[in-house]
Amino acid sequence: MSDNVQEIKSRLDIAEVLRAYIKLIPAGKNLKALCPFHKEKSPSFMVSPDRGSWHCFGCGEGGDMFKFVMKYENIEFFEAMKLLAEKAGVTVAAGAAQGGAYRELYDANRAAKDFFVAQLVAAVPSAHQGIAREYLVKRGLTAETIREFEIGLAPAISDGLFRALTGARYAVPEIERAGLVIKSERGTYWDRFRGRVMFPLYNNFGKVVGFTGRVLPSEIAQTGFEAAKYVNSPETPIFNKSKILYGFHKSKSAIRDTKTAIVVEGQMDFLMLWQDGIKNVIASSGTALTMEHLIALRRIAETLVLSFDADDAGLAAAERSIDLAQSADFNVKILTIKGYKDPAEVVQGAPGKMAEFVTKALPAMRYYFDRYVHPGAPVADQKKSVRVVLGKIKQIASPIERLHWVRELGVLSGLTERALTEEMDALKVPEQVVQKAKNDELQAPEAPQSGAERQDPQTRSELVGERMLSLVCAYPALRAKVLAAEKDFAPTDVELLHAMTDEGIGTVSPELQARADLISLRSGLFVGENIAPEEELKRLMRELHMEALKKRQTELKQVIARCEASGDEACVAAALKEIDSVAKDLHTI
Ligand SMILES: [Zn+2]
Repeated sequence: MSDNVQEIKSRLDIAEVLRAYIKLIPAGKNLKALCPFHKEKSPSFMVSPDRGSWHCFGCGEGGDMFKFVMKYENIEFFEAMKLLAEKAGVTVAAGAAQGGAYRELYDANRAAKDFFVAQLVAAVPSAHQGIAREYLVKRGLTAETIREFEIGLAPAISDGLFRALTGARYAVPEIERAGLVIKSERGTYWDRFRGRVMFPLYNNFGKVVGFTGRVLPSEIAQTGFEAAKYVNSPETPIFNKSKILYGFHKSKSAIRDTKTAIVVEGQMDFLMLWQDGIKNVIASSGTALTMEHLIALRRIAETLVLSFDADDAGLAAAERSIDLAQSADFNVKILTIKGYKDPAEVVQGAPGKMAEFVTKALPAMRYYFDRYVHPGAPVADQKKSVRVVLGKIKQIASPIERLHWVRELGVLSGLTERALTEEMDALKVPEQVVQKAKNDELQAPEAPQSGAERQDPQTRSELVGERMLSLVCAYPALRAKVLAAEKDFAPTDVELLHAMTDEGIGTVSPELQARADLISLRSGLFVGENIAPEEELKRLMRELHMEALKKRQTELKQVIARCEASGDEACVAAALKEIDSVAKDLHTI
């Protein structure tokens, strides 16, 4: 497989591959872009065509073209390989292309889907086939939609699928690993899905990775007790619930075109909207939206229109989704469908009406105002509700939008903007929704690092030093000035500093090569930026010097403690004297 990887890499230009996804701007011999993996306003994402790699200095992500495609498309390695192989005109061995270890899982799921579809359309109908078809027709689905989304039927027998799959020579462990059967205590196997209408769940490439099974109306009537209404496939190596949005593989392009995604709860809602001509829709399948969902959506959409059930559980889940989406800088709107149970019912009862509801969706904050703020209510209640709404406003990523809603709240509640802002500043925002991406480039990266990719700078001195070295790479004339600050550099950086040449960084010891490469790559960030290099250098030197002084201060404190313990008064006096002068220097810096 690694031969294929090398072959693909040698045939494709990383810049061309990435250009299909993001806008690249030339930056010397490298290229830069706004990072697609974290939120930022100025580019910190660099691509090096020479080395065939990319790195983001904002969030710390980096790697080769495979890693990029995997992350961007939210897909597994072999899927990225297939995609790139096609682009490169490389034929990969079937085993490798289909994903080695996962191939059986995909195959088993596909075979299960074919089995369920066949059960629904079988020429010799069973009693359950009639009930399932009747149910789907009653819900308003056309034959075309049923075909397009490959809806099927799991017969109400204990091992129908198991026998079909083993009969087709699928290995039992794989069928079990795919989550299609459950092993009993006696060692026999049961179908996970029995007597259910089956909705295949697809990954972004349209491959079946799992199922949702909805109980048949007759099952409740016949058995007398209520089976779970929905049963889902368990998590498997190819099925990760927090990553999959129902219908996304179909609606991706419509979402990209309209920059808007309509999020409904159920698969039936999705299918009915789709059938009604609303194509920029996805279903969260009854679970709350996750950050992973949102990041995938944010790349192609700016607006989220959320629709949810109006019961208490629905509202609580909706609030979580709204807050998370606002923190991901979505323009969030809330869809209310007065007089109907769910979107599916709207389409069934009044085709075309859903589009009208969508245009009337309210901004999320307006929705919160309606829900929480009641002018004229007792002051104590007001206070509480205003605080709730302020908490919501605080989570909005855009400061302009925050200000707008604080003002609106002021008008509605009669409180001054200043009082509201103070109150809001004092509020704690839940950890999960706090933006991780910080714009400050010098902020130590919080995102997990890709191991061997990079040796992380440990201290702020090193971060500042790295930035200075990058600046010198971009502006070699500054080298002499930087050398003057040598004493403030971390020891490893001194070696890097001396290795700097007019073409970037020359020969360094192998352990430092990765950092040297990053420093050189980072220098591209300065190209075309409207910065005054001399000023920038001065600022950084000041900061580096300050860090050095602080470090010395800490060392001296330790010296004093040690000398005091051993009763060495001369040492204490000398250290105190120095600590005094360091403090003075820190003040005058
Ligand atoms: Zn980034």
